[in-house]
Amino acid sequence: MIQRHAGQYRWEGVDVHPYKEDGTHFKTITRQTLFKGAHDLPVEFRYFEIGEGGHSTLERHNHTHEVMIIRGSGQVLVGDTVSNIALHDIVQVPSQTWHQFRATNGEELGFLCLVAIDRDRPERPGPEQLAEMRENDVVGEFIRH
Ligand code: MN
Repeated sequence: MIQRHAGQYRWEGVDVHPYKEDGTHFKTITRQTLFKGAHDLPVEFRYFEIGEGGHSTLERHNHTHEVMIIRGSGQVLVGDTVSNIALHDIVQVPSQTWHQFRATNGEELGFLCLVAIDRDRPERPGPEQLAEMRENDVVGEFIRH
């Protein structure tokens, strides 16, 4: 089966949704689910796009992410490291590691993200955890909450 690309990072039969249903802890981001999993392949394959200046939720969880940038560029926090990311870079987010994607380069940041269907809910940082993160100046400057 082939699901055709419909142009502009949209795919036939795939709806464009808000990233999450509610909240103000993210900005200018959409989600498309390209693959919802099969019995022998229990993963979801999603495409996220962060508009210029936007960001994903600062969060961590037990499950891991495998991400590939396919549009634009930006920056990502994984653990205590902020990195520039661009086309075709691959980002691995390990279990229980704080992460946040930001479209900081005057353009959108679009990426594919592979995730297990059966996964735990993300945790957002509390005041203590934020204070701990801000002890690292680079991290403190980067995070949006
Ligand atoms: Mn996540």
